[in-house]
Amino acid sequence: SETLDVAALREDFPVLDREFDGTPLVYLDNAATSQTPKRVVESITDYYYRYNANVHRGIHSLSQEASIAYEEAHDTVGEFVGTDRREEIVFTKNTTESMNTVAYAWGLNELGPGDEVVLTEMEHHASLVTWQQIARRTGAECKYIPITDDGYLDMEAARDLITDDTEMVSVVHASNTLGTVNPVRELADIAHDHGSYIFVDGAQSVPHQPVDVKAMDCDFFAFSGHKMCGPTGVGVLYGKEHLLEEMDPYLYGGMMISKVTFEDSSWHELPWKFEAGTPPIAQGIALAEACDYLDDVGMERVHRHSTDLARYAHEELTASDDVEVYGPPADDRGPLVAFNVDGVHAHDLSSIVNDYGVAIRAGDHCTQPLHDVLGATASARASFYLYNTREEVDALVDAVDEARQLFA
Ligand code: PMP
Repeated sequence: SETLDVAALREDFPVLDREFDGTPLVYLDNAATSQTPKRVVESITDYYYRYNANVHRGIHSLSQEASIAYEEAHDTVGEFVGTDRREEIVFTKNTTESMNTVAYAWGLNELGPGDEVVLTEMEHHASLVTWQQIARRTGAECKYIPITDDGYLDMEAARDLITDDTEMVSVVHASNTLGTVNPVRELADIAHDHGSYIFVDGAQSVPHQPVDVKAMDCDFFAFSGHKMCGPTGVGVLYGKEHLLEEMDPYLYGGMMISKVTFEDSSWHELPWKFEAGTPPIAQGIALAEACDYLDDVGMERVHRHSTDLARYAHEELTASDDVEVYGPPADDRGPLVAFNVDGVHAHDLSSIVNDYGVAIRAGDHCTQPLHDVLGATASARASFYLYNTREEVDALVDAVDEARQLFA
């Protein structure tokens, strides 16, 4: 069927039964972190109860079981985003670490004076701060593709900004503040026409829409387990195999080596070259379980459900003309709404709606420069996922109404 059986799905997420002083939790902070289904939690307990052991180097049976599960987790996660090459999937700590891996391992070596890194005004600090600081250390320069008034990338400006001086284009796939979904394939083509690489930040796209890194033709791609029904402590770096092959490691130590002498070392094969030390074993296995879970639900359906809720929230909130929702129109956005209510600070708003059990985020959502462009110091953000309902959107809108009346 086209739609989700949300009542049944909610049974998978015990935390959704929480109440605060008798008020049911309405969890609308999914862009920060999503809730975790039983199946994924059980995959973690199963690991610790039955086959907890270090991986790769073990001869004993327990270590072999752990190694196989951990290594195969790379395949499951890879297939979830469109690659069947285990070599191309590196487990990291999170999107931020995936970004830093490429910035340090590739950027520090390859960038220099006269080189440019092209980002967007809607970048998360994970990429913005990382490239800014690597550019500072290498003498390269960062440029930013501006956004239009309705929160899209200005693609004409993008074509002007990406030149033969560009070495890396780093763009967010789906904005965690505007809800914009960017034309990454088009940007990849522009980048490649100029001999540049492209890094796509998929932290907000992989949880919410079918993603195919091969169709996108990105060179690097990053996402986090904890935003897609998986655990904290594991993220993913996808890189085209030949690029990861050419790159130096980012972190050095055990597990990532092939041969070590007092004088020199050589590196293990991909992807282990980029996984120094004991990796996130339980988390990686659980992330694969999360991918299977989302596959079973169906990513097309997850996408339709969550974006329907965002559209509904957008329409209901902007029915009051003192509300501004940032970003593209209601029918063309990812599953979140960042907004401000005239005369009510976003922090006050989120604190008052919390009294009604409604969990939303307030602040700059790690996009301070974007908030400068929007002319706001902060915003409130409600973000939706497969287990949310229209009734929960109504609860948000009612709670916002209460806040408005308090401050009237
Ligand atoms: N990029 C985007 C677009 C995000 O929304 C986030 C999480 N807020 C990140 C990167 C960073 O993810 P993490 O904190 O898991 O590294």
